[in-house]
Amino acid sequence: MDLKKATIAVHSGLNNDIQYGCVSPPIYLSSTYNFIGFNEPRFHDYSRRSNPTRDIVQKALSDLEGGVGSVLTNTGMSAIHLVTMSFLKPGDLLIAPHDCYGGSYRLFQSMHNNNLYKVKFINQSNLLELQAAFNEKPRLIFIESPSNPLLRVVNISMICELAHKTETISVVDNTFMTPALQNPIYLGADIIVHSCTKYINGHSDVLAGIVISKDPTLIDHLSWWANNIGVTAAAFDSYLLLRSIRTLLPRIDIAQNNALAIVDYLKQQKLVKKIYHPSLVENIGYKYAVKQQKGFGAILSMEIDGNKEILKTFLKSLKLFTLAESLGGVESLICHAASMTHASMSYEARNRAGISDMLLRISVGIEDKQDLISDLDSAFKIASDNI
Ligand code: PLP
Repeated sequence: MDLKKATIAVHSGLNNDIQYGCVSPPIYLSSTYNFIGFNEPRFHDYSRRSNPTRDIVQKALSDLEGGVGSVLTNTGMSAIHLVTMSFLKPGDLLIAPHDCYGGSYRLFQSMHNNNLYKVKFINQSNLLELQAAFNEKPRLIFIESPSNPLLRVVNISMICELAHKTETISVVDNTFMTPALQNPIYLGADIIVHSCTKYINGHSDVLAGIVISKDPTLIDHLSWWANNIGVTAAAFDSYLLLRSIRTLLPRIDIAQNNALAIVDYLKQQKLVKKIYHPSLVENIGYKYAVKQQKGFGAILSMEIDGNKEILKTFLKSLKLFTLAESLGGVESLICHAASMTHASMSYEARNRAGISDMLLRISVGIEDKQDLISDLDSAFKIASDNI
């Protein structure tokens, strides 16, 4: 049966328990599995390599993304590291966005500094920069669209096409969109990574990541390395992720509707100099967002018109937006990119990426949208009164 995403999300792994007929799959916490006899292992032998609970999540997310297999890891960063370290050798070139998530930026830069591979950060919205980068025959290109925190959208199909011409492996970080809103494999990507810590888990209580591919040989290679270096996710975390995947689509739907209402509200605010959200015509890559995404997502950023004191007063006055890193949970979070998520980038690198000291990123949750807007409104009033 050709099932739709909402059905895959709810039905993956249901009713597969032969012993008791459990509807919801049991959690298999065992780290090891007995052998039937000498030299007669079962399908699972040790949970670092494979685990029944993790298998269900891997299949669910792979099916949702249109892949043939996946590897669930213990964080989003380990998923990204797994991909880069298992394909790149010293001297190989990685092309990465100049405005990607700060942790990815730090990982690539530190690998480059340690001569494990070379990295070039480029503006992937600029065709000339892209072409020049592909002329150097990179082994791998890492794409993040929309980007964190400026929500820039790049033309994924075009970049993947260029990559295939030079036999470059294309990897898309699909964390902001989730399989609900964007499927990079259908846009030509070889590999997708997610920080499952974000929307896929959605409740800010699990760290995990996933690597998904449409190519079984790539998955075999990645699974071998995941077991080798020991980055696979734990059974209990896998179970929590599966619970969360059940509600992924409705959660995204509510959150992105709330985000659209907040964007509209922010447009009227004197203290907001600029808004970044893929729904805005002026946003970089709007024309690609409309084509390649099934929605605009629930992360937005805004530039505060004022000084650090105004920004601090505004943040302190919020009651429903928690000042915290991370995103994609049911609760709304707000973060100051320069001092939090992107603090590991140098001031110059942040400047080049366009991340100013007055930029705030909001992860809109699934609370009542009017309550969220009222909270922003009262914080803006307090901040303006203090000017
Ligand atoms: N990719 C993106 C786009 C992210 O925002 C993050 C974390 O914020 C990561 C990857 C890293 O994920 P994790 O924190 O699960 O290691």
